[in-house]
Amino acid sequence: MTANLLGYDLDGLTAFCEQLGEKRFRATQLFRWIHQKGATDFEQMTDLAKSLREKLAGSAHVQGPKVASRHESADGTIKWLFDVGAGDVIETVFIPEADRGTLCISSQVGCAVGCRFCSTGHQGFSRNLTTGEIVSQLWFAEHFLRQHLDRQNRQERVISNVVMMGMGEPLQNYSQLVPALRVMLDDHGYGLSRRRVTVSTSGVVPMMDRLAEDCPVALAVSLHAPQDALRDNLVPLNKKYPIAELLEACTRYQAAAPRDFITFEYCMLDGVNDQPEHARQLVSLMQTYFAHGLSCKFNLIPFNPFPVSGLRRSDMSQVASFAKILMDAGIVTTVRKTRGDDIDAACGQLAGDVQDRTGVDRRMAAQRQGMLGGIKVVVVKGMDV
Ligand code: SAH
Ligand code: SF4
Repeated sequence: MTANLLGYDLDGLTAFCEQLGEKRFRATQLFRWIHQKGATDFEQMTDLAKSLREKLAGSAHVQGPKVASRHESADGTIKWLFDVGAGDVIETVFIPEADRGTLCISSQVGCAVGCRFCSTGHQGFSRNLTTGEIVSQLWFAEHFLRQHLDRQNRQERVISNVVMMGMGEPLQNYSQLVPALRVMLDDHGYGLSRRRVTVSTSGVVPMMDRLAEDCPVALAVSLHAPQDALRDNLVPLNKKYPIAELLEACTRYQAAAPRDFITFEYCMLDGVNDQPEHARQLVSLMQTYFAHGLSCKFNLIPFNPFPVSGLRRSDMSQVASFAKILMDAGIVTTVRKTRGDDIDAACGQLAGDVQDRTGVDRRMAAQRQGMLGGIKVVVVKGMDV
């Protein structure tokens, strides 16, 4: 089998070309053809010597993802389902805005973290995506959009921002993630600045430290609760890396981060984590870390319901009161607009209709009775879980 060149960052492609007896600048030319022009046919690459084109044809290929379906929302959001083999499907979402185009990329098929409010988590974990499968989402979307959007200049970049907020926990697929990030950042690739590439994590603390060293892009951390008992319940990874360790890691990350703040995501679940008491606890928690040098922004995400979650979206008035408590304490807070609702492209709804491959749904449904009882108590008694 020949190598899919979408799986290499520039160093990797250079090593590949060296094996063919070619110099680094040839790899750079090839990399630009692939990522900047979207070329798949080596014969098109006219500034490469014929002998190299022949060698490439015998040893490599450029293979994009297999499109299973495409849905376009009334608000311009586009969702692709890609078939990655063996019945596995991933999703990629393009979100156009006036001043930018954001692509939301998947890092795994399913997710092993199993957050209660996330449909990917309910599906269970199937496998890690390869670097090539991560990069190919961007490669495909960028070149598709250049062809299909009504634009004067087809060479102009459409995707200005990438967020690793699709299916999967990117920091549990670290070795495949980092070369993919390098392709996004490379001036010969997509040339995105580090502040326009965001890794979102549920809090894999050791890998946050490694990311700070290897490839410090913007960081978003899915917090969702102001104290451990509640977070243990919503984000099971909290049992391994509790809030204090997570916030210390965020403070360390900030020294390397391209932005001068970390974004905390907080999914607003009716009666579960959205009470004024939770907001006040969050303020006092964050203030401890501000004293250690952390600076942050909060992004409140109205929960996107899916049938088996047993959870409800907070009322907008509840979200507004919660935001006000944070803002009154001087914490910059935004409420995420839900985009692509009509095509199930909103956060946490990705690949929602994909079959459950692991039986996690059944196990969670069985547990839910008990858990929900526990969570109701949170509301009634304040924060004592
Ligand atoms: N695994 C990573 C990135 C993917 S999830 C993480 O958890 O950060 C991206 C964001 O969507 C996370 O903040 C996650 O908490 C949020 N999310 C998941 N399910 C959601 C849902 N049903 N409604 C709203 N946001 C959700
Ligand atoms: Fe995984 Fe993120 Fe979903 Fe949690 S929210 S289950 S970490 S994808």
